[in-house]
Amino acid sequence: MYDVIVIGAGINGSATAYELRNKQQKNVLLLEQFPLPHTRGSSHGHTRITRCLYAKKIYSQMTLDSFPIWRDLEQQTGERLYINNGCIQVFDEHLEQEELQNAQRICEELKVPHEILTAGEVNERYKPFHIQQHSKTLLDTFGGTLIASKCLTVLQRLFMKAGGVLKDGEQVKNIRPGKICTVSTNKGEYEAKAIVITPGSFASKILPKVGLNLPLQPIRTHLCFWKVLKEKEGTVESGFPSFMMDKYHVYGTACLEYPGLLKIGLHGGKQVTCDYPDIENPDFENQKRFIREQMKGVECKPSIVEPCLYTETPDQDFILDFHPKYSNIVIGAGFSGTGFKMAPITGKILANMALDQNHGYDISEFRMTRFENIIQTSSHL
Ligand SMILES: Cc1cc2nc3c(=O)[nH]c(=O)nc-3n(C[C@H](O)[C@H](O)[C@H](O)COP(=O)(O)OP(=O)(O)OC[C@H]3O[C@@H](n4cnc5c(N)ncnc54)[C@H](O)[C@@H]3O)c2cc1C
Repeated sequence: MYDVIVIGAGINGSATAYELRNKQQKNVLLLEQFPLPHTRGSSHGHTRITRCLYAKKIYSQMTLDSFPIWRDLEQQTGERLYINNGCIQVFDEHLEQEELQNAQRICEELKVPHEILTAGEVNERYKPFHIQQHSKTLLDTFGGTLIASKCLTVLQRLFMKAGGVLKDGEQVKNIRPGKICTVSTNKGEYEAKAIVITPGSFASKILPKVGLNLPLQPIRTHLCFWKVLKEKEGTVESGFPSFMMDKYHVYGTACLEYPGLLKIGLHGGKQVTCDYPDIENPDFENQKRFIREQMKGVECKPSIVEPCLYTETPDQDFILDFHPKYSNIVIGAGFSGTGFKMAPITGKILANMALDQNHGYDISEFRMTRFENIIQTSSHL
């Protein structure tokens, strides 16, 4: 009998399990369908951007509160997880004034150190950027890069070291709700007082087992790496930051995983199913246009392309909520292209929900009841 079973060992499930075991001393089982590490979800790859630059304050707040937890994990393990090389967001001065002011206001309210840079300053400081004159750039100096692959393994390692049970290669096939929930996998049956389901793009397979039909759409996207022609440009050592430019729907990180290659990704992609992510024929047009128009000295074809899945809700906001019928079943989903950086806090929230404890965040925006017809009509539950 476990206190809590967490289903799905991506960054959100792993952070939840860590909080439950390492901080709250609960008896926890973390189940993952694929042998770890795997590349079939959303949490693989070497880097993720972290930034407080958001249009909604709750995301900035959760990110801000995650920094000390990443630092604490670094101290516990001696691993470098968070590179504080800053994050810039480039705004079109004519079209995105309001967005810039909003992001700046949130930084001011949360006391996040920030700076407004002209195009000239960006191009001088951050080569190979060559951004156009009619832009303004907001620099979040708390932002930067998370070494994602290590963040994930560190959470899982510390969880197991503290006595948490992690079973990978074990797919949850069924869930029987009740005061005590029963979880059946391809290998066995387990009981727990509460369950947290963090299934990523596989939500449509597991959530119907608890009678839920949530609008969670898997999106196939790619981690893409582009060659910088001049040595040392685009490196963390040269001060190159993480970046975003909504006009092109692109984001990126410095040359970190592969020497001399910048990561420039497209936010969004093609609607797919989790079983058939259709990894062929990716579309790089936005990234190529961005490189042609806003960079100088970056090869306009990707050198490396690695598929990855997002899971989007219609409004692109998370789902962090109790099951409408069973308060001991908690769901964390729809983290889209943005749910890595604040996983220490979303994990903390989900863990506290499973224990019916206060977590101190106003997550009313993340209720699943904002969507219609979420209970399956055919549900036997
Ligand atoms: C290309 C790309 C770039 C991104 N960039 C950023 C970024 O810069 N910054 C940022 O903050 N975020 C970013 N994100 C988003 C972030 O990575 C995701 O939001 C986050 O990883 C989601 O984690 P998760 O744990 O919710 O899902 P996942 O990582 O998908 O984990 C879910 C896990 O549940 C398992 N599972 C599902 N069903 C079952 C079952 N029945 N039984 C057992 N196990 C099951 C799955 O196998 C999977 O391992 C990016 C995402 C992608 C794809």
